[in-house]
Amino acid sequence: MSQDVLQADHLQVAFDTENGELICVDDVSFSVASGKNVALVGESGCGKSVTSLSILHLLGKHGKITGGTVRFQGRDITHLPEREMDHIRGAEISIIFQEPMTSLNPVLTIQYQMEEILRLHTGNSGQENHKEVQRLLTLVGIPNPERVLKGYPHELSGGMRQRVMIAMSLACKPKLIIADEPTTALDVTIQAQILALIKSLHEQTGTSLLLITHDMGVVAEMADEVVVMYAGQVVERADVFELFDHHRHPYTEGLMQSIPQLDGDVSVPLTPIPGMVPSLREMGTGCRFAPRCKYAAPECSARAPALVEVKPGHYVRCHKYGEEGNADG
Ligand code: SF4
Repeated sequence: MSQDVLQADHLQVAFDTENGELICVDDVSFSVASGKNVALVGESGCGKSVTSLSILHLLGKHGKITGGTVRFQGRDITHLPEREMDHIRGAEISIIFQEPMTSLNPVLTIQYQMEEILRLHTGNSGQENHKEVQRLLTLVGIPNPERVLKGYPHELSGGMRQRVMIAMSLACKPKLIIADEPTTALDVTIQAQILALIKSLHEQTGTSLLLITHDMGVVAEMADEVVVMYAGQVVERADVFELFDHHRHPYTEGLMQSIPQLDGDVSVPLTPIPGMVPSLREMGTGCRFAPRCKYAAPECSARAPALVEVKPGHYVRCHKYGEEGNADG
């Protein structure tokens, strides 16, 4: 049985705002087993990225973990001092952001930035580091690594910059890579190449992957397990096959119906989920999805559903499935 590399239990994250504390992530639990790929999925504003940033303590000065725990390789890192988190970030857990230009320093060469990671986290000589960054760039499909190393980020295309970021994320052989919408900022033609690259490196290296995405097509291609988030909460969680074949939460159903089918009838329009993710300030006492849910009943607005295990490993937060996990719908 594979061991969990990452475990979030009842995680709660809040931000200080002018109008007081705002809870953006509420009671989020999931785990990433060794060598597995877990997808956190949901629309923009569902709390996926905040969840992943909280794991790395990258919430900025206004955000903080206000409840629950994060364990990495069995160690509680929820409130680890910054000095110790520095050793974990980049070396043991690395992150690939949506827009590589926000992570790459525009005034430093790629060589300097890549070798710096190795300088900080390994005791290798300069020559060893140089060889290693060449190897990493070759691994991510960059044909002329030396030319790229001499260049600056703005001299590369978006796809090449993301390949560099992926190479950097692998530099210290991390146990976990968090990929936060890694293809959203890229041209459609490049997106598939980058996803294929991430998938193949994940398989080759055995590194666990936490993939943040809004795209169920990407989830189907990449994930072993899926955590569906809505308005800061987990609403459904299951193995990818179980989720695609037997999803239960009405929000997951809506996400599924909005996936284009290549072999489907093109005359049948995709069905968008009506409405928008509510503002976190406007949460009522009931189910957060109720204003958009076609199955909403009076009790849905009156009482918040709990996340219940409807069958082994499959969790749903919806009154349709009862508080004891007895599916009635
Ligand atoms: Fe819809 Fe009610 Fe289930 Fe919420 S609890 S998802 S409103 S059926």
